[in-house]
Amino acid sequence: MRELPETLTPSTLTVTAGRPAHEPDAPLNPPLTLASTYVAGGALEYGRYANPTWEAFEEVLGGLEGGRALAYASGLAAIATVLDLVPVGGIVVAPRHAYLGTVGQLADLTTSGRLGEARLVDIADTEAVRRAMPGAHLVLVESPTNPALEVADLPTLCAAGREAGAVVAVDNTFATPLLQRPLDAGADVVVHSATKFLAGHSDVVLGALVTAPTPRGDELSEELASRRRKIGAIPGPFETWLALRGMRTLHLRVERSCANAVTLAERLAAHPAVERVRYPGLASDPGHGRATAQMRAYGGIIAIELRGGAAAADALTRTTRLWVHATSLGGVESTFERRRRWATEVATIPDNLVRMSVGIEDVDDLWTDLSTALDQLVDRSG
Ligand code: PLP
Repeated sequence: MRELPETLTPSTLTVTAGRPAHEPDAPLNPPLTLASTYVAGGALEYGRYANPTWEAFEEVLGGLEGGRALAYASGLAAIATVLDLVPVGGIVVAPRHAYLGTVGQLADLTTSGRLGEARLVDIADTEAVRRAMPGAHLVLVESPTNPALEVADLPTLCAAGREAGAVVAVDNTFATPLLQRPLDAGADVVVHSATKFLAGHSDVVLGALVTAPTPRGDELSEELASRRRKIGAIPGPFETWLALRGMRTLHLRVERSCANAVTLAERLAAHPAVERVRYPGLASDPGHGRATAQMRAYGGIIAIELRGGAAAADALTRTTRLWVHATSLGGVESTFERRRRWATEVATIPDNLVRMSVGIEDVDDLWTDLSTALDQLVDRSG
């Protein structure tokens, strides 16, 4: 891989890291290496142990987060591997409004006795999280949370978690390393669903973990790499190649998506069909406050609660022409869904909450589509 100067801005890193050396006839892009096995005697040996395409992806993500990255089969495979670090009967502190797959894994592992306890907390209530920490082996933060968009005070929680003797992992899927770098805030591990903004084109399922560039981080990285190998939670080379290609424009996509989200959040807050807008940067949102200062911008995800309950939310998702009714998020196209349509969504997520993933289209086209559908809700209820 090509050596780079040490101090590069994130936008230069996304474009230049993880590329072959500048040599005559070398390809500009890392090749897609499809190999289950390699000629014996080298460092790679077998396709479950190593792959040069994974390494190119890992180099870019590691550079952006400021640590050492490992790619996994999916975001949930990465989270499962972190949970696997917890001793049998151990204690995990996690947000009550984390991604439903994370909350689901914690519930299953607690029911089976694999974990002793999962202490679910309001991650924006720093004191409550601290009170839950004594005896914990893992503090698994997600910030902003999916889909409630609560923001955690990362520096305070990371310091408190470390003091309590726990490993601190932060799911940075919503913010991306361009808006927030948890390792700088003191986290041990960063978690990603690379399926979302990192890959960015709704065509890949992929996960990643990034560990701190410290002796403790290196130890964790060795352990997590060994677990990936043993459990086999490895990514496909093509998925990693696609995600790497997607990451080349991460800075442009995130910038546009954030700018669109700010405009839409403000317009949504003024619309009579909308009861509440959750967007961390919005002054009227309760998530707004001290903790948001650690973010460079507030991301491309908004949640709205509709007047008229679940029926109004469902009607909205059926009416638009540009906004696509679909799960997942972080793609170039704008998508949305009523989260409680999933029976497994946490019961304290409001029934009328629609999570919106703001894409990179023209913001006025997005608003025209959305406001036409919202106006119809008002006409119907009036
Ligand atoms: N973490 C967060 C915050 C997510 O939103 C998701 C998926 O929606 C995941 C983890 C799981 O990732 P994946 O779907 O790639 O397994």
